[in-house]
Amino acid sequence: MAEMRVGETVKLLEISRAWLVDPVAGREGPGEVVVRDGILEAVTWLEGDEADAARAEGGGPGGIVVAPGLLDIHVHLREPGNEDAETVASGLAAAAHGGFTTVCAMPNTTPAADEPGVFARVRAAAAASGSPVELLLHGAVTVGRGGERLAALGELADAGAVGFSDDGSPVQSPVILRNALLYLGMLGLPLFEHVEDPALTAGAEANEGYVASVLGLKGWPAAAEVAAAQRAIAVLAAVLPDAPAARLHLTHLSTAGALDAVRRAKAAGLPVTCDVTPHHLGFTDEWVAGSRRWAWEAVDDDGIARDPWADRAFVAHPYATSCKVNPPLRAAEDAAAVLAALVDGTADAVATDHAPHAQVDKEAEFGLAANGICGLETALGVLLAAVAAGRLTLARAIEALTTGPARVLGGRPGRRGAARGLVEGEPADLVVFDAGETWAVTPAALASRGKNTPLLGRELPGRVLLTVADGRLAHRDAEA
Ligand SMILES: [Zn+2]
Repeated sequence: MAEMRVGETVKLLEISRAWLVDPVAGREGPGEVVVRDGILEAVTWLEGDEADAARAEGGGPGGIVVAPGLLDIHVHLREPGNEDAETVASGLAAAAHGGFTTVCAMPNTTPAADEPGVFARVRAAAAASGSPVELLLHGAVTVGRGGERLAALGELADAGAVGFSDDGSPVQSPVILRNALLYLGMLGLPLFEHVEDPALTAGAEANEGYVASVLGLKGWPAAAEVAAAQRAIAVLAAVLPDAPAARLHLTHLSTAGALDAVRRAKAAGLPVTCDVTPHHLGFTDEWVAGSRRWAWEAVDDDGIARDPWADRAFVAHPYATSCKVNPPLRAAEDAAAVLAALVDGTADAVATDHAPHAQVDKEAEFGLAANGICGLETALGVLLAAVAAGRLTLARAIEALTTGPARVLGGRPGRRGAARGLVEGEPADLVVFDAGETWAVTPAALASRGKNTPLLGRELPGRVLLTVADGRLAHRDAEA
């Protein structure tokens, strides 16, 4: 591997004493993999004494892990229009560093991806980057994301859109939402809805509650998300008789109430899916006040949020704009509900909502700073921190980053590891990480142009050693 460059076919890679996780096969255990000439030549699951011996030699789930390449269904790559924040090339490099071999870019670029010409520009940038990470594209629901007229949904679908969204904003009118769901139902593609009632969030700065009150920030009520989620689900239910293939996906849910709405809708058989972000399950609104303890450390044994002032939990300056995000970091009870929804399957996937910003857009007073947290490179580490704390299984974490999001997308993508698993004879598409080794989140360590994450300065578990995408090298750790 020593001489290999990103984009080159992996000639020979042999990994022994590893812990294999294959959510497609529903299997994990000690094993070995061999990649030759870009093809996953052998996947050997060890049994009996051999398995015991491998575990004794460090080949357990706390060591080197091999999993299918991860899939992120919600990222912002900022090109075209805001290349100071991110480019397709830097975004794909960040994806590879995070273990992702497929990412789906949201259409809220400048111009918005509301017609196939924008897709062509983005794809040309991906091809020019030389990255083997697969870039899938969401189309806009409305022209210019303006909420007035439907975009060219059919043309965008023909051009390969995997989903549709006005993300950054909700689809503003329920009439438009209804028409979009009807039309996309005929195309068999999901509508990714950013659920937010803007009437309730005008001028909002931080999650409504104790922390915002103490800090003097204008509250951002959970009800803005819950109400919008309920409304979108009701609109879906109403169109199903006419469009039985309509599918609604609620992205970056952050509140117990919205997740409960999804739980009930699923129980009623409605075709609703949702994703949650690493930051909404790992961080809380305390972080805005300067705490950096994990969300699961911020609740007491009864699941009630602890008082960070009483706990003297603060280790960072308050009002750090790296903590400003839409939807906002929530109270610890909501974060616990987000993690619970991931564990019980109400949340189908973890998506990062990777939202890079140029430093200038974050260097403002809290209420005026841009919303967004970079997530591609730290998602795996946050989930592994939850695994290490006993809050999540490794298998579920990997599932939520592979087969879960692949199911949300349905039939459209599916050539890569996330949908295929660790299958012999196919192009290798996998991530190799060391669950027992940490790495320091520093600006220099991040491939993304965006350095806006409150995890800066922190050690995260799960150093990604190698990402192989479609048989080609996508990322290799400098020390691997
Ligand atoms: Zn959004």
